Amino acid sequence: MAKNGSGKSQATKIAGRSGVAAAKVKPARLKSAAIIRAGSRAQAVSITPGAAKRLVSEKAERFTESVIREMTRQAQLHGAMNLAQGFPDFSAPAELKRAAQQAIENDVNQYAITWGAKNLRQAIARQATTWQGMEVDPEKNITVCCGSTEAMIASLLAVTNPGDEIVCFEPYYENYGPDAILSGARPRFVSLRPPANGTGEWTFDEGELRRAFNRHTKAVIVNTPNNPTGKVFTRAELQLIAELCQQHNALAITDEIYEHIIYDGAEHISMARLDGMSERTITINGISKTYSVTGWRVGWAIAPALLSNAIRKVHDFLTVGAPAPLQEAAAVGLSLPQTYYVELAQGYRRRRDRLHAALTEAGFKAYMPRGAYYMMTDIRSFGFADDVSFTRHLVKEIGIAAVPGSSFYSQSGQGSQQVRFAFCKKDATLEEAARRLLRIGKKRN
Ligand code: GLN
Repeated sequence: MAKNGSGKSQATKIAGRSGVAAAKVKPARLKSAAIIRAGSRAQAVSITPGAAKRLVSEKAERFTESVIREMTRQAQLHGAMNLAQGFPDFSAPAELKRAAQQAIENDVNQYAITWGAKNLRQAIARQATTWQGMEVDPEKNITVCCGSTEAMIASLLAVTNPGDEIVCFEPYYENYGPDAILSGARPRFVSLRPPANGTGEWTFDEGELRRAFNRHTKAVIVNTPNNPTGKVFTRAELQLIAELCQQHNALAITDEIYEHIIYDGAEHISMARLDGMSERTITINGISKTYSVTGWRVGWAIAPALLSNAIRKVHDFLTVGAPAPLQEAAAVGLSLPQTYYVELAQGYRRRRDRLHAALTEAGFKAYMPRGAYYMMTDIRSFGFADDVSFTRHLVKEIGIAAVPGSSFYSQSGQGSQQVRFAFCKKDATLEEAARRLLRIGKKRN
């Protein structure tokens, strides 16, 4: 089993060397810090590297900036198409946009209740029952946060103590590594293995999962549908995880942000639905992906009252609250008819199939996702030394930004022949990407 190690992946290490992502000392900031420390002497003193080092926390030193977000900046720098960060380049539903405008017009411009506007919490509770049969009390079980990103870190901060372990499937969405470090927990990774032929399921070894749980385990993070693999965890897999949580008195923290983006008849099952799990599950979700509004930052955590109380306190002191008018619009989104979700999934299936064909034609081995809007690929046939040199070539010479696979792994060397593409894009964007992908030449080292 992979150990956490330094928490630096191949991609982050290389990004660090190029000065892009490392927690580098910023002279301007440090100078002003020195002025403050010099106090009444009112004279700037230059600060030694040793003195500078203690101004940055050990926690912040242990991880680099997000490679996913960095690739978006690279895309802008090189004028490349962004198939890196998972955000749509098409419009959000008109109903949501109108509702947001209306809310601002109606002066919903001040703080909402810190744990979320009442009508949004009611809409979340109603839909959790409709879609997943969950019993949710909007007064006790819901904390609305600034996106599911905040819901995840607020939840981890609310439940972990130093020395606690968090079990996490690997490859994993990049944020979970720094989330664990920030909350003082130690991640323990369990490998998801790609299907041999590209079309089957990503799987994990039951024995490896069992061995990852121990008396230090506080929680397991389950992201289903999964980013970056597209895996949709089956009922049997979730049941095994549930059994281990109950056996070890651990929590399940489930990131279900891609709930409605599923293909080929796959079924999304919330962990909280399984017997005995509602009292030990934190269900995280949000409007970003379902309604194509990733910049709005409205997400939530659903949890039993005991945990909700802790999450609400952490959330309150982290951010006070999510944007009030956008919470109103989110409630409108949650009231869209069922046809909206059917069409959403159908649209993504079409995009998925288009990108899969394009990647395959260009020489990638592309793993077909069952959910979410990413495609992991194997780049071995191109003969590049690693994923970072490949994505660098892709963004500069081909005009496409993608995410180096190593940024989804904890140990350097892992994922070094994998690259992730996002297909939450207009048909025209994907057509142009398909044309550009054909230009990737075979390269010999
Ligand atoms: N989930 C998106 C991705 O994996 C990014 C989310 C974010 O950058 N906050 O690309």
